[in-house]
Amino acid sequence: MGMALGDALGACVEFRPHEYLTAHPVKNLMGGGTWGLEKGQFTDDTSMALCLATSLIARRDFVPYDQLVRYKWWYQYGYMSSTGKCFDIGAATRQSIIQFEKNQKDFANKTSIPIDYMDFLCDPNCLSEFNVYCSEAGVAGNGALMRLAPVPLFFYRNPKKAVEYAGISGKITHGDDKVYDACRFYAALIIGALQHKSKNELLKETFYTDNKIWFGDKDLHPDIQKISDGSYKKKRGYEDGIRGKGYIISALEAALWAFWSDEDSFEKGVLKAINLGDDTDTTAAIYGQLAGAYYGYKALPEEWLEHMYGKRFIKCLSKWIVYEGENWSKSHIYDDGDTEHNDVLPEEIPDRSRFRRFTVHTMVSKASDSNNDNQNIATTYQSSMPKNDRRSSEDLTNNKPLQAATSYQSSMSKNDRKPSQGFSDKKPLQRATSYQPCMPENDLRSSKDLTDNKLIQEDLELAPPGTYSLGNSGRRQTHNYLFGKFPKSSKHS
Ligand SMILES: [Mg+2]
Repeated sequence: MGMALGDALGACVEFRPHEYLTAHPVKNLMGGGTWGLEKGQFTDDTSMALCLATSLIARRDFVPYDQLVRYKWWYQYGYMSSTGKCFDIGAATRQSIIQFEKNQKDFANKTSIPIDYMDFLCDPNCLSEFNVYCSEAGVAGNGALMRLAPVPLFFYRNPKKAVEYAGISGKITHGDDKVYDACRFYAALIIGALQHKSKNELLKETFYTDNKIWFGDKDLHPDIQKISDGSYKKKRGYEDGIRGKGYIISALEAALWAFWSDEDSFEKGVLKAINLGDDTDTTAAIYGQLAGAYYGYKALPEEWLEHMYGKRFIKCLSKWIVYEGENWSKSHIYDDGDTEHNDVLPEEIPDRSRFRRFTVHTMVSKASDSNNDNQNIATTYQSSMPKNDRRSSEDLTNNKPLQAATSYQSSMSKNDRKPSQGFSDKKPLQRATSYQPCMPENDLRSSKDLTDNKLIQEDLELAPPGTYSLGNSGRRQTHNYLFGKFPKSSKHS
């Protein structure tokens, strides 16, 4: 949320030089300006971060291929955009997405996989053969760092993995080593913030050496090492050479300078980042990631949050990251031999008890309503049943709950079909019906997940209609859209 706020605050003056901002400093959340957005709408930084977040959640893991698919959806269809379109995209990101699309086509030709299936590729062997590195050395823009936060938020309980994945998450679109290490270093700081390290600990020169175990055996690039040594600690800021430019080194320095000099105020820091000028929204979005993690949700100015576009949706995704990240860490607890395994939830992430799985009640069948007129309707049901669960026609015609369950069963994947008693007796399973058909094929949730996970059900309520759909088209289409099913006509490039 801190990142999204920084993005929205800086959007109206993106590309304005420092001189302009000295004369007309940003003091508040505003609409208009560079992109003519409504007050609170965000730009590419947040859209890409939301793509990354939904990928981590839907795949329940770090799958760079799926991240790229979602970036492509954003570029082509405006997926996760605050306006329904991709209206701003960095040159390097654009180039990498085009390269990714080309790699997809080549892979489809080589393997004879239909191109329409390529976006939903989930076979581990296929994924391991696909080259996800769509950029090259020398591409060192800030576009990789601006979207980073979901990775450390998801994996922070296993810092070594979080740092490694952070580097890869940047490198797939921005191939330079400096980008890789900027993302690793910044992710480590966000992890430190989530572990309640003090600002002094985060910003002291020994932070990298103190936490070197997180970085594996790859040393930091010398330019990032300089930043780690404190190159951004310049009292006069812009006059001392701090710049809010698109180069990854400048961007990282500028964001850290704002954090270092913000007098423990998110509001002051984010405005300092913006008023450096140039790539205002991105400098502020990068600042907002660390500052948001460090100060917490409650420190974000309420009058700004009130206008934040998609606020409820972003909050819901944040909770979902906590939920899935925690599940992930439980199944990977010893993966990196990390002795500092940290399972303490930071204050800004809401109380874990809210997400405790609820138990589906074991219910005894009370299906006895008679309806002997309905043999025809029951036919549909019968044909959708797995062979080992076919019912006698008497059952089918006499049992109303069985009939109600018809639409659910037929939407289930074959290996997740339930015995009819399993779903006809359980209300949550039936409620999950509307969710299931909206799921992408690469989201491998079982019916147990769907019924046990309140968050999934809550999300159906929380996705704001119109936000992620192509219009005010109602919940079903919103969700098709959220999970990557688009009307063909919506492609604009
Ligand atoms: Mg932007």
